[in-house]
Amino acid sequence: MPDLAKELRKIKSDGLWRKLRAYCPTGPVTGEIDGQAVINFAANDYLGLSHHSRVRAAAQEALERYGSGGGASRLLSGNNILYQKLEQRLAALKRTEAALVFPTGYQANLGVLTSLAGRGDVIFADKFNHASLIDGCLLSGAAVKRYPHKDLRILERWMSAAASFRRRLIVTDAVFSMDGDLAPLPALAELAKRYDALIVVDDAHGTGVLGASGGGAVDFLNVKGISVQIGTLSKALGSLGGFVAGNRGLIDYLINKARPLIFTTALPPATLAAAMTALEVIKDEPQWRSKLMNNAVYLRSILKTTGINVDDQPTPIIPVTAGSPDTALKLSLALFDNGFLIPAIRPPAVPAGSSRLRITVSAHHTREQMDRLVKALRRVMGNGGRAMSSDGKSWTGMETGNR
Ligand SMILES: *Cc1c(COP(=O)(O)O)cnc(C)c1O
Repeated sequence: MPDLAKELRKIKSDGLWRKLRAYCPTGPVTGEIDGQAVINFAANDYLGLSHHSRVRAAAQEALERYGSGGGASRLLSGNNILYQKLEQRLAALKRTEAALVFPTGYQANLGVLTSLAGRGDVIFADKFNHASLIDGCLLSGAAVKRYPHKDLRILERWMSAAASFRRRLIVTDAVFSMDGDLAPLPALAELAKRYDALIVVDDAHGTGVLGASGGGAVDFLNVKGISVQIGTLSKALGSLGGFVAGNRGLIDYLINKARPLIFTTALPPATLAAAMTALEVIKDEPQWRSKLMNNAVYLRSILKTTGINVDDQPTPIIPVTAGSPDTALKLSLALFDNGFLIPAIRPPAVPAGSSRLRITVSAHHTREQMDRLVKALRRVMGNGGRAMSSDGKSWTGMETGNR
């Protein structure tokens, strides 16, 4: 047995210790941890659809009719008839010929990258891409070049020198999951065209949220030429699963090649029914999207008024810089003592020196809840960045979070 205790001690002393806490939801944005009530600013269920009455009813009906489990891989008997309709609706949402659902977004990313890229290929990946894209790149066996966040100049320089590779891919988050900013998709699509590359966009956080009908970042930015669009059912769609949208040939290829689809069990029918109904709600009830956007604008504006530096972005992800992992953790704990659930995001989720609080807004937060959050934040961040830890000992000031 390796010396795990020693490694764990190091993780702890680096301020990177992670532990699971039991969360009991009591509504779309409220819950309890260890008996303490909290307002949840830490979920990606942006529209609260996991609690929507139609979504829950559809899941219940599918559970009663088809049972609790997927039963087998999709290529055996797990391909419940609900998949077909769900995939048609996802393709319609993304305006593509076809779509393919995976058990998670993580697996969709592994499946796409390991199927489309291999030895002799090169993948250009934004440095801030989600871990599942990074893992997919590494697992593919292709050469991987990680360009500085959104740095088109460096990307172009590298791409112009990559003609000898068999295939070139550009891989990017559409909405960066820990920063809440948008990728420059039109410029990336242009580069892909110029240097004969395939562009793969992971819109986990834009799907259902951005665009007039919730189609996502590609829709919102009105970009053409994105050959592979990835999304998740696990965030704004309030369910679980990942998906790929593209042309029929791509989807057929993935069905035949993608090991994270082939060698795993299908999703439970209730999960499929929930996602399918969430797509209907997204179409029928655009008010959730506008409430979400209004809340995101409101929270950013009151944070700024308080002197907390936030970027203007059209997304519900709002990072607040803390610097060191320790500082982020202490802020998070102090907020918890004030009844707010806001996670400290630390390496390896973000680069060293850029630990942060990651606030996510929901359509269901009230102004009063957001006002209280900002007051609490101001209190715990203190004047000049001093604050109190949850055990009452004062601790040193904020670091600036230069990456
Ligand atoms: C959350 C996330 C995923 C993973 O999706 P799951 O369905 O939760 O596995 C993939 N990519 C990005 C950018 C994400 O934020």
